[in-house]
Amino acid sequence: MFMNGLNRYLNPIERLGQGENSYLFPLIANTALCVFSEFYAYNIAHNPLIIGVYIIFFNVAFIIYFAFRDGIIGGLISACFSIFYYFYIIYSRHYTGQQFTSAVDTIIELGFVYFLLAIIIGWLKETIDRLIGREINERIWLQTILEQLAVGVIITDNNGKIVQTNKHLESILGMKLSAGYVIGSDEPIMQTVENNISATPASSPLAQALKSNKPIAGREFDFQRKDGKHVTVQVNASVIRNKKKKVIAAASIITDITEQKELERQKDDFLSMASHELKTPITSLKMFIDLQRQQLKEKNSRKAHYFNERIQDQANRLKELTNDLLDVSSIQTNKLRFNKEEFDMDGIIHDTVEGLQGTTKKHEIVVKNTRSEKVYGDRYRIYQVLVNLISNAIKYSPSGKKIYVKSKKDNQYAVVSVQDFGIGISKEQQSKIFDRLYQVTDSHAKTFPGLGLGLYISKEIIERHNGKIWVKSTKGKGSTFYFSLPLYMSKSKT
Ligand code: ADP
Repeated sequence: MFMNGLNRYLNPIERLGQGENSYLFPLIANTALCVFSEFYAYNIAHNPLIIGVYIIFFNVAFIIYFAFRDGIIGGLISACFSIFYYFYIIYSRHYTGQQFTSAVDTIIELGFVYFLLAIIIGWLKETIDRLIGREINERIWLQTILEQLAVGVIITDNNGKIVQTNKHLESILGMKLSAGYVIGSDEPIMQTVENNISATPASSPLAQALKSNKPIAGREFDFQRKDGKHVTVQVNASVIRNKKKKVIAAASIITDITEQKELERQKDDFLSMASHELKTPITSLKMFIDLQRQQLKEKNSRKAHYFNERIQDQANRLKELTNDLLDVSSIQTNKLRFNKEEFDMDGIIHDTVEGLQGTTKKHEIVVKNTRSEKVYGDRYRIYQVLVNLISNAIKYSPSGKKIYVKSKKDNQYAVVSVQDFGIGISKEQQSKIFDRLYQVTDSHAKTFPGLGLGLYISKEIIERHNGKIWVKSTKGKGSTFYFSLPLYMSKSKT
């Protein structure tokens, strides 16, 4: 450690490009040289004239050293000290006459050479400093860009040996790829799959780009990271050539497309689910219309009436599904509009419960502790939220039991809750059920029909009223959904 520091301080080559020129060290060193020469001449050699030739040798060495260590100024300090010392020698040794003139002539000639030496070597050193500094800046600049890219980057030499990677690559892979690893021939660092087939080192896009000298684009790989996360990446690779078109390196760009793939999968699932959901009422409609027609033919009006009611049910279901789809598209295109007015929360709760109680014989929907609070909003949309929450409470408590609907005043808000004692929702799923297209996917809950849109639409409606929607639930015991709306007094007419 100490030796390293000393080497960095004394060795001019170690200091190149650092821009750390010091002037104190040349000053001290040159003073020490003069003092030591004087001491040597008078106290060791006992001959004041002895130092003439030696000192020239040392001065030249100092000028070269300090010009190379500290630039032009470092060299000039040494040159000035030398000249100054020579004049001191003339003075202190009492040179006179011819000896004096020729000594002054020599000092002038030497001074000229010394200054030239200091300037040339110092200038060389400063030029090297600048060149190195420029290269370092360019490297830092490139490195900074590389680090800030939102894609993973691997740069290899022309044999596939990794020279450089960036941070984003590390976060995609969940591990660091060490420099020196040879892509295409070293043991694979993790098991990757391409189109459901295990990928081999030789099939890696970078190895293939190097082999064929052509760019390889859009290959997709799946793998499992050490932390267990499944990741899908898209990889593009290409060789890099110098001015003479010779391949000198290869680069690979790795993009994390896991979320994009998940979205595509969700959309596919949604399409098949939506088709299924729409097909069910249409098939039933067709069946009931046929049966009704038959009963009308046989003049059995009681049965015909029953089938007519079923037709209405299924037509309503179809209307609900298409309304949900239209609402989602309005939310996505920012076209969901509200007709806000002052209305009574209590009234709307009673109306909704009355309407929905007729749809279930297994459940008793109980309105409890409601207060006549005035809120400001779109009456129809809030009704829609209530219908969604109570319908869900009915749907997700298949063995019946009570459903409580309550409302209370909390500061400047009316808070409405819908409580059921049904299947409940696990902690992990609770944060996701308000997402678009999200449905709990355990084998039990999967048996319930639906598109996973109701809560997403409800959340959008409530938030656009400056309210909040949330859930408290215990798996297997039931759920309570809450939403809050600003009271009329603290309305915000947005
Ligand atoms: P859908 O009911 O059409 O699937 P929602 O957006 O209304 O869509 O609900 C999203 C998911 O949240 C449902 O699939 C269900 O798993 C869960 N969920 C909603 N309400 C309840 C509830 N009261 N009890 C248990 N799970 C519920």
